[in-house]
Amino acid sequence: MATASTTVERLYVDGEWVETDSVLEVRSPYSGEVVATVARSGKEEARRAVDAAARAMREPLPAWQRADILDRVAALVQERVEELGRTISAEAGKPIKSARVEASRCVNTYSLSAGEARRLSGESVPITGTQSGHGHIAWTVRVPVGVIGAITPFNFPLNLVAHKLAPALAAGCAVVLKPASQTPVSALRLAAICEEAGLPPGWLNVLPGPASEVAEVLVEDERVRMITFTGSSEVGWSLRSRAPQKKVALELGNASPVLVEADADLDLAAQKVATHAFAYAGQTCVSVQRVYVRREVLDDFVSRLVPKVEALRAGDPADDATDVGPVIDASNRERILDWVEEAKAGGARVLAGGVEENGVIRPTLLADVAPEMKVCRQEVFGPVCSVIPYDSLEEGFELANSTEYGLQAAIFTRSIGPAVRATGALEFGSVMINEAPEWRVDQMPYGGTKASGNTKEGPAYTIREMTEERLVVLATP
Ligand code: NAP
Repeated sequence: MATASTTVERLYVDGEWVETDSVLEVRSPYSGEVVATVARSGKEEARRAVDAAARAMREPLPAWQRADILDRVAALVQERVEELGRTISAEAGKPIKSARVEASRCVNTYSLSAGEARRLSGESVPITGTQSGHGHIAWTVRVPVGVIGAITPFNFPLNLVAHKLAPALAAGCAVVLKPASQTPVSALRLAAICEEAGLPPGWLNVLPGPASEVAEVLVEDERVRMITFTGSSEVGWSLRSRAPQKKVALELGNASPVLVEADADLDLAAQKVATHAFAYAGQTCVSVQRVYVRREVLDDFVSRLVPKVEALRAGDPADDATDVGPVIDASNRERILDWVEEAKAGGARVLAGGVEENGVIRPTLLADVAPEMKVCRQEVFGPVCSVIPYDSLEEGFELANSTEYGLQAAIFTRSIGPAVRATGALEFGSVMINEAPEWRVDQMPYGGTKASGNTKEGPAYTIREMTEERLVVLATP
């Protein structure tokens, strides 16, 4: 039953706000109340959206105009950080202070993309460097890849959507977006802002709806030239195999490791782990999940870490004091608690948390875990972190590399030698030194290796993925 604060949302196709015969109910992960009812897209709306996007791209927008629209979106998001933060918090259960940060980062994503639209260029090709090139001039231009299908996860419903939409517009590509069914409202708010900023019809279409219908159209329709996907590894790689002729950019999961060397600043490492293992209840793709600590400082490190974890406030995401809110839904809560039980049954000790209070899993710290346990081997995507000893740097690297994932990793040390060795030995897209692996700013190249993905996001990198290099050769007399 809808509550008084429930909003009614329409989907966005070809510049129109559309109602459909059925709706999705968006529920607060904290209270379970319906926070929005959203028009649900099926295949018909998805096909209409691809038609609109293809039509829009037949009348390209010049770079200056794309950049101006992106700058206006950034300014409007800036004005509405509080409102957008509240929307994120309500639908995703993200603590309000983290939700505001997400909304502020979205401003950066749009303004960085505006800069990329203004800078987009090809290069001259030194074609006369061989005899056969004589009498020619050559250069490249970057052309939009075509209509882009974007599929996004629940955990950053505004800024991860922005990481697809803003560079796509900067590149000159129209987008059909399928947001996560659990968190479609932030994406619809962003579409309204894009419209207000002057984005013409067709360039952006937002279709909340089931993957089996909306994503399927994006896979099947040949006019969709690229799919950009952020979400779980399982879905991402299967999507790529189903769309062999399209460009498919994948930003996927991780089980972030941290190495703590004996000479590390243990207080700093403990503070970073406590914050970045449990921010948004561990539901970021780079949450700290496995902390490997040199055996000789293990007890010292744990004695600093436990009070910091216990001091985190778990509860209502709308409360400014809350550090750790609920996980996205009951089935994930059950799964995470099952994994903790499995670890305990195998001999793991609970150093903190391990219990649920009012639907929120307390930040949970485990010791004595074995590598084959799910909490070590798979992505928990919840507020659970394990502390594990190691005896040599080589062993630490091996343990850190021992999952299928490779997104971001970190080492804490005061010595340059182990830090530099880590940058070579850790098989991850990014290696942080004396910083948490959850650290991200929006301009950096962000993306993983192995099962974690095949691309880099960050406007300067995404715009290259979303454009193709076209060679132009001019014969000179
Ligand atoms: P998910 O279950 O893979 O869903 C992601 C998106 O894919 C949703 O829009 C979902 O739609 C859609 N989807 C589901 N099944 C599909 C299918 N068979 N074909 C096409 N699309 C399909 O992931 P999630 O639970 O929302 O997000 C958590 C995952 O995202 C974690 O693994 C996390 O590590 C990863 N993640 C990665 C990054 C990164 O940048 N590397 C960032 C954030 C999150 P419905 O909602 O309608 O099911």
